[in-house]
Order: sequence, then structure tokens, then C-alpha cells
Amino acid sequence: MSARLLLATANKKKLVELQRILDAALGVAQIELVGLGDFPNYPDVPETGLTFGENALIKAREGAKRTGLATVADDSGLAVTALNGMPGVFSARWSGGHGDDQANLDLVLAQVSDLPDEHRGAAFVCAAALVLPNGREHLVEGRQTGRLLRSGRGDGGFGYDPIFVGDGQDRTNAELSAGEKDAISHRGKAFRELAKVIAKELPR
Ligand code: IMP
Repeated sequence: MSARLLLATANKKKLVELQRILDAALGVAQIELVGLGDFPNYPDVPETGLTFGENALIKAREGAKRTGLATVADDSGLAVTALNGMPGVFSARWSGGHGDDQANLDLVLAQVSDLPDEHRGAAFVCAAALVLPNGREHLVEGRQTGRLLRSGRGDGGFGYDPIFVGDGQDRTNAELSAGEKDAISHRGKAFRELAKVIAKELPR
């Protein structure tokens, strides 16, 4: 028998990514992952936290409360050292509107344009939370550290990927295949860490 788990996102790519990681960690078909697309009329939950962890917990608590299912939620973004960790939780709307990847990326590049290479450090950060219907909560974090380029390269990925080169890499995240990025990304690390917790917490 498989256990049902909600990933509190409408993003189908995240569902596929977490399912792939859970299958690899726990065995195929052990967990049946569902997304918010399976719950019509699910409301938009405002992300009111000041940290990735707070926002992940807000979304996971809401999911568990509304559906009665064990719920995973993640929150992620880019933390630029020279900008004191910003765009941080504002990564998706740094330039004003929500989800304009090109405008967000252009603004970050403009803000750090005078900085020399040694001050262009940044990290992608992902917090992932698991909230169970019995109220138990778990929070994990994954990070990919690296540096910002002066202009974008590559067509893969999304968001700030074209301007970010991870430590030990010579290609931007947008020049990696999906599998290569999963292996080193903040979200890949956080989801793999959470898979261990899910294996212990979910009866199958
Ligand atoms: P969310 O966690 O999907 O809401 O991500 C928030 C924002 O952070 C996205 O809109 C992107 O701007 C940025 N972001 C998160 N993960 C990545 C990534 O893997 N690559 C590039 N940008 C990312």
C-alpha cells in the first residue's frame, strides 16, 4: 500500500522532481504524491514569513489543515552576500511584479554591477517542511553556494539560473541538464534530506 502525501504547490515540475527523489530514496510507488491541482478552490496562501523556513512551514501547515494529508512545502530563492542575503524570500518578485524572471535577474545584475569577482558570492537556498496531520513538524534546508556572473548564459533551468555558477562548476545552472542540476541544487539537497524524514514518518 502506498501513503498519500501532498506537495503544497501548483508547480507540476516540483511534483515530478519530488516524486523522482522519493522513488529513488524509498522505492517506486511507495508514496503517492498529489499537488494543489488535485484540490479545486484551494486558496492562495500568502507567504508572510521573513525566512524560507517560515514560509515553507506556513504553506505545509495550511495544506495539512485543509486536506488532512501529510504535507510537504518548500520555499526557495537566491541569497546574494553583498545584498545581505536578498533577494531572499522576495526572489520571485524582486523587480516588482511576481515571476518576471528576466526583470528580476537584470535588477540583481545591475545592483552588483560594480562589485569585483571576489565580492560576487551568492547561494540558492531551499527550505522544505513536512507537517503531519497529528501536528508533528520537520524542517530541512539545502544550499548551493556559488557566484554571480556579469551576464547570463544558458537556456535551461529558470529564475536566476543563467547568472549563477555553483562552486566547483564552470557552467551556469542554466547550462546544466535537469539531472545535473538536481544532483547539486538547493532543492535537490533539501528534498533528498526530507525523503529520509518521510521514510520514517509515513506508514506504508
Ligand atoms: P519558489 O520557491 O518556487 O517560490 O521560488 C522563488 C523564486 O526563487 C523563483 O521565482 C526564482 O526566482 C528563485 N529560484 C528558486 N529556485 C531557483 C532555481 O533553482 N534557479 C533559479 N532561481 C530559483
